[in-house]
Amino acid sequence: MTTTVTIDSGSFIFHGYLKSEFKMAGTKLKVHHYYIRNSEVPFEEDMFNEFKGHRNLAVEELPPWTQETTKEKASRRAVSRALNAMLNTGKGGKVYLGIVDSGMVRGLQLTTYQKDHVIGSLDDLMSRYKPPVKKHRYRLKFVPVVDSKCSEEEIIKQCSYDASDYCDETERMKPHIFRSHRYCWCDKDGVAQFNCGVMTQDYVIEIEILPWNSKDPRNQDSGCGSLINLHPLHEDEEGSVYFRRQASLVKYSMSEICELTRQEARESLEEEVNRLKREIIAKEEPC
Ligand SMILES: [Zn+2]
Repeated sequence: MTTTVTIDSGSFIFHGYLKSEFKMAGTKLKVHHYYIRNSEVPFEEDMFNEFKGHRNLAVEELPPWTQETTKEKASRRAVSRALNAMLNTGKGGKVYLGIVDSGMVRGLQLTTYQKDHVIGSLDDLMSRYKPPVKKHRYRLKFVPVVDSKCSEEEIIKQCSYDASDYCDETERMKPHIFRSHRYCWCDKDGVAQFNCGVMTQDYVIEIEILPWNSKDPRNQDSGCGSLINLHPLHEDEEGSVYFRRQASLVKYSMSEICELTRQEARESLEEEVNRLKREIIAKEEPC
C-alpha cells in the first residue's frame, strides 16, 4: 500500500503501514519505506511472496535444533529453497525475512556488521548455485520496522538513520563466517552492543528475485537456446532444483525438469512462430 500525501507545511502526515511518500509543496518527493511492528501485512504468501521469521539463508546456516520436527513445530527451512524456486520459474518474487508465516511483522535486529554479513552471505549463496546467479538478478533491501506508537518525527528519524556512520571501517573489512550455524563475530558483537544498551534498529530484509528478461544483454550468455533465450534452471547449494507453485515449493526430478523445459520452449517458440506468421502475412498483403 502506498499513499502519497501532499502537504504544504512542515508537518508530516503519515498514512499506510508500509510505505509513505511525503511531498512538500514545491519540493522533491521523499519516500519512507517502513513496516509497523506486530502489524499484519495485507498480502499473503503466494507464487511471488514468501515470509520467513529467520535469516538462515543457506542450508548450513540452519541451527541443528531447528531440524528436529515435533508435532507442534515444523522444522525450519533455509531461505535458499524459496529463492531457488523463484529463479527457476523465471517469474521472480520476494522473500521477506522478519515476517512470520501468518503475515505478522516481527522484524530482525541487525547491526551494520550483521547487515554486511547478510549481504555477503546472499552473494556467497548465489555464487554456489549451478549455474551461479548473476548479481543483477537479485536485490536486497533492509526496511526499518517501527513501533505503532512512534511519532512521525521518530519514524522519519528511524528511516533516515544510518548506523554505518558510527562504524569502524577497519572492523567492517573483517571477513564473516558463512556456511555455518555457529555465531559469527558480528553476532557476538551484536549481543555485546545490546548488552551495553546500544539501540539497534529492527528490519524486514526483502530479497527480491527479478523476473527473467530474455532481452537483457546481461542475460545473453546465461539463458537456454539462442533463439528464445529461456531462463536457466539453477541447482541450489545442495544440488536440488525447486519450483514455486502458488505458495508452496516443489522439488523436481530430472525427467520433470526436461518436460517442463520442453513445455516452456514450446510456449515461448509459439509466440515467435506467431510473430513471424504475422510478419509474413503483412508482407504478402498488397499495398
Ligand atoms: Zn558475520
